[in-house]
Amino acid sequence: MLKEDRGESKTAVLADIPFNRACSNGNELAYMTDAIERGHIAGDGPYTKRVERLLETELGVDRVLLTTSCTHALEMSALLIGIQPGDEVIVPSFTFVSTVNAFVLRGARPVFVDIRPDTLNMDERLVSDLITDRTRAIFAVHYAGVACEMDEINALAGAKNIPVIEDNAQGLFARYKGRPLGSLGSLAALSFHETKNFTCGEGGALLINDPAYIEGAEIIREKGTNRSRFIRGQVDKYTWVDVGSSYVLSDMLAAFLCAQLEAHERITAHRRDLSERYFEGLASWSDANGATLPYVPEHCEQPYHMFYALMPSEEQRDALIQRLRGYGIQSVFHYLPLHLSGKGEEYGYRRGDLPVTEDVSARLVRLPFHNALDEYQQRYVIDAIVSGK
Ligand SMILES: *Cc1c(COP(=O)(O)O)cnc(C)c1O
Repeated sequence: MLKEDRGESKTAVLADIPFNRACSNGNELAYMTDAIERGHIAGDGPYTKRVERLLETELGVDRVLLTTSCTHALEMSALLIGIQPGDEVIVPSFTFVSTVNAFVLRGARPVFVDIRPDTLNMDERLVSDLITDRTRAIFAVHYAGVACEMDEINALAGAKNIPVIEDNAQGLFARYKGRPLGSLGSLAALSFHETKNFTCGEGGALLINDPAYIEGAEIIREKGTNRSRFIRGQVDKYTWVDVGSSYVLSDMLAAFLCAQLEAHERITAHRRDLSERYFEGLASWSDANGATLPYVPEHCEQPYHMFYALMPSEEQRDALIQRLRGYGIQSVFHYLPLHLSGKGEEYGYRRGDLPVTEDVSARLVRLPFHNALDEYQQRYVIDAIVSGK
């Protein structure tokens, strides 16, 4: 939103363009009101079922379970595949901390793999050298919702019977060789955090592609009980059957989410427009300044989750963030490599171990990109970028 500068200068306009902003898309309040009127707002109510069926149909996965977050869906994955202390898990360092905490919580050790310089995804060519007798899983993170090279990763993992788990927090409705992300690993996790394309504030989902995991997942998610079978009338009482926790999303939030997901084509179309406008508006600026815009391979359909630029140097990246701040525009870096964090160093990692990750992380800037961003605001952002050096 542009607003008048109330300070000294009468002519200057200061913008207030946040990096992210959540908004309603139409039916959110109506569905939440309906949930209250039906008298059911705990988990696994009518809206939870509606969202789970919608996702199962659209993605072609065996079972979808809504969860309290993507973090929790990832934690459930680690429990389901039986991760134990001393196990190793192959994972990029260029990811959100939840991908790694999910199995570190179970006592496993992250084995960090460097990323490809083009898609910024796990470099599948480096994976086989990292597989040992202790490797128990590969967590594939689809950065910006652009797919990892899943055929290669699944082939390597399949040969050794290692499950692949997709962290698809950013890539709902994106595709790899025509197949939906989230349908490619044994398990996959989605996020409905407010920074994602579709949201209910905080929420997530576990996608199950291997039916052998369905019953265990229902038990873990329902506090270690067989309550899901009880609700379906398959047993006459429910009881403690295994370890578990409380990973069920409130139906109130599922109602909000349902409205967002039913509008997914409209939301995605808006985000596609934003993405195309950035690509067009920044093409000559990026050429002239040695910046790189996102790369999407031919065989990948992207979900328009984010827009970033890779600047030629860390200094130029920091200068751009600073300069945009002067225009009232919030842009952000992404990610601080996990292997260089305080916790990462406990596993013996040092600067220089993952050169592409370290290089990219120092040069990447993410631009404002959200469902409430309109063309007028976006032109202002583009003008601010191209007007400088
Ligand atoms: C957002 C995100 C998460 C965490 O999602 P929550 O729903 O907030 O737990 C995990 N992994 C990646 C790659 C993400 O982008």
